[in-house]
Amino acid sequence: MNTSIFEKHYDIIIIGGGATGAGTARDCAMRGLSTLLVERYDFTTGATGRNHGLLHSGARYAVTDQESATECIDENMILRYIAKPYVEEHDGLFITLPEDDLAYQEKFVESCWKAGINAKIIDPKEAIQMEPSVNPTLIGAVQVPDGSIDPFRLTMANVLDAQLHGAQVLTYHEVTGFIMENGRMMGVYLRDNITGEKREARAEITINAAGIWGTLVARMAGVNVSMFPAKGSLLIFGHRVNNMVINRCRKPANADILVPGDAITVIGTTSDRVPIESVDDMHVTPEEVEVLLSEGAKLAPALATTRILRAYAGVRPLVASDNDPSGRSISRGIVCLDHETRDGLAGFITITGGKLMTYRMMAEVATDMACSKLGVQQKCQTATTPLPGSDKSTVEEPENHLYAFNARVGRHGTLAPSIAAMDDYQNSLVCECEEVSVGEVAHAIENMHVRTLTQLRRRVRLGMGTCQGELCALRAAGILCASCKKSIEEEMADLAEFLNERWKGMYPVGWGSTLSEAQLTSIIYQDLCGITSPSMKDRRQEP
Ligand SMILES: Cc1cc2nc3c(=O)[nH]c(=O)nc-3n(C[C@H](O)[C@H](O)[C@H](O)COP(=O)(O)OP(=O)(O)OC[C@H]3O[C@@H](n4cnc5c(N)ncnc54)[C@H](O)[C@@H]3O)c2cc1C
Repeated sequence: MNTSIFEKHYDIIIIGGGATGAGTARDCAMRGLSTLLVERYDFTTGATGRNHGLLHSGARYAVTDQESATECIDENMILRYIAKPYVEEHDGLFITLPEDDLAYQEKFVESCWKAGINAKIIDPKEAIQMEPSVNPTLIGAVQVPDGSIDPFRLTMANVLDAQLHGAQVLTYHEVTGFIMENGRMMGVYLRDNITGEKREARAEITINAAGIWGTLVARMAGVNVSMFPAKGSLLIFGHRVNNMVINRCRKPANADILVPGDAITVIGTTSDRVPIESVDDMHVTPEEVEVLLSEGAKLAPALATTRILRAYAGVRPLVASDNDPSGRSISRGIVCLDHETRDGLAGFITITGGKLMTYRMMAEVATDMACSKLGVQQKCQTATTPLPGSDKSTVEEPENHLYAFNARVGRHGTLAPSIAAMDDYQNSLVCECEEVSVGEVAHAIENMHVRTLTQLRRRVRLGMGTCQGELCALRAAGILCASCKKSIEEEMADLAEFLNERWKGMYPVGWGSTLSEAQLTSIIYQDLCGITSPSMKDRRQEP
């Protein structure tokens, strides 16, 4: 560990390595502020790594929440430009089924236009032609500029750019308290969650970007930020069923969004208030699987017979404002709290609410507030400056190994040429399902804070495909062991943890081919390789 990280007095410390924290670190660093980003585990372990990955057009909120709808469409257009390789621009349909009220469509379209969303009523037959998987009994369809976004790569691109602009980054460092001097927050107490070591870091301003945990972080500082923890469960299907997002044209309800992304499709979501004490221990119940499947099949009937890869759940960081039991009517608008004017605590800001897709705007609002307190005049440039990988340069196609080339350009955009691809070995596949090459794994280890298989999965999708790590885990473990100079025992433990974690997401949907795949994995790793059997103690499921 570089001890000088703890000796410096920063302008800004940001708590939370989700999209909001990473985006805020990027914005602060781009405006010339000395910045430290701290995350208690790995990046994207909060809600950022547990959502649909829907690049909202804002249409979903148009009728009930114009503010969020406008924020979404504004950011939708910006992300298409600044985050090109991390976004899929395939549009979406809002369909009306015979059991729905077709009159809602008119109100819906009007509200979309009011928010600046280009919503177009189309003939149901045309909708079927555009998206053949859609329920053919539909009686109405509206086309909107929905898309999808990869939250993992988006967040890492922000982290990378923050670092390129001088920010320091600490993962596995949890904020356990605050340094207070003369009624002002002067920094944070940290615990290294790997070694247990205790540290402190100082800054003029601390920004709480800890998502749903922001309420607990604020509590440590003696201020109240009332949150509404709304759990949502989702299912991932084994292949890409649809090419456009399919939504129900009605008030938001259970399982009414079907989002394609990479090689898979995600159905979501449920929405239930959960106690704040439980947010670290989310798992998907059989009842949730049932409702997601039965409602999902109404959007695209093929879902009823498509293999389900896994289930996972996340908790939305909604700001409490009423007694809505599900949290569906709470605004997804951005909330930025100046604790100096609100609570008399100088040096502390909370940025919360919002959505994955408004992360950049959230970062801008929080950084504007920090800059005005520090007397810094620099304007925000994140809406017009492409993220790493998203610039306009062209990437030359090689003569050989096109599969690996397409996969690395698809995932890393114009950063792809920095991935080693000189020979057959570097181009050979470690993960066949997601076409991850040896060179891409090495690149992630070197540049993306990777030391474990689970971190590798979040950076390059290794183990996220049909076999859920069955074929690639062992090969990737070999590369990690050598590159990170780990002992065999250490890597075996990492491998066991990775496989256990994969199993946790398969368990709630463990029937048919998913169960067969899990059994084969267990035979390979447990019976042949002697790796410890999956533990059912911790059942929190990751995407
Ligand atoms: C089921 C579901 C579906 C969703 N679907 C979509 C969607 O399709 N599109 C969309 O735009 N949005 C969606 N959202 C909303 C979106 O996921 C969130 O709004 C967004 O990801 C929040 O990001 P964040 O960075 O603010 O919080 P998080 O991603 O939760 O990040 C907070 C981070 O803070 C860290 N942390 C907590 N305490 C500490 C501490 N003491 N010290 C250091 N670090 C700490 C956590 O480990 C975590 O990594 C969905 C949310 C859910 C739950």
